[in-house]
Amino acid sequence: MTGKPRFVMCICTGECPGFKSLNLWELINRVRAELPVEYAIVHPQLCVDDGDRFWHDYAKPGVTYIVGACDPKMQRKMFKDAFSAIGGDFDQQVIPLDLRNMSTEEAFKRVEEAVQRVMTGVRE
Ligand code: SF4
Repeated sequence: MTGKPRFVMCICTGECPGFKSLNLWELINRVRAELPVEYAIVHPQLCVDDGDRFWHDYAKPGVTYIVGACDPKMQRKMFKDAFSAIGGDFDQQVIPLDLRNMSTEEAFKRVEEAVQRVMTGVRE
């Protein structure tokens, strides 16, 4: 894996009650300012067609993506084909985090722990 991880936040259209305790922009700005990530970005809904098109355009083999969204098993199911299609591997490249029903601080801590795992080479 090369370089620092990228943080991708999926906010479930902004309407999902699971994210109502989360201040999206505070989280994104804290992640990009305080953690050793290459950058942090937001997608509104990764699990629909334009989310697939986004991964096909954006994902690169060998790069690590920390994805803040919903259930990790669902993320795997929804995104693994897009990674396979670009010659990548979801299991090697994506750290899927379930950030639903968390405060901004709790979500930040989850992302911070994931970034530390990537930077120290410990994924689990
Ligand atoms: S990937 Fe998960 S968090 Fe993102 S829109 Fe789909 S269900 Fe919601």
